[in-house]
Amino acid sequence: MESERTMDDIIKRWQRATERADVEQVRVIEVGGEYRATSSSSPLHSYVLRSTDRGWACECIANREFMMPCKHLAALATVLGLDLIADMRIELPLDAAPVVQAA
Ligand SMILES: [Zn+2]
Repeated sequence: MESERTMDDIIKRWQRATERADVEQVRVIEVGGEYRATSSSSPLHSYVLRSTDRGWACECIANREFMMPCKHLAALATVLGLDLIADMRIELPLDAAPVVQAA
């Protein structure tokens, strides 16, 4: 895994995640008030998607361990109309942090 994380890199990862969600037909279903992502290419696995105070999170390794974009969150964004940068729990590069004005 690359150590350098740039905004370009994040956007490219979201593009790939969105393509994979489409190709693998990742579906988002709601079960008992909880969102889950299932993939038709791996029907035995489903991943819980939850809204946290840092944005939507997925329990797959990419997002849980590395705070990376994943195809499950990409699918959720499509279904709920969420913003891939603002609404997701991903680790952003430092230069993307909001600028705090000095008083
Ligand atoms: Zn995921």
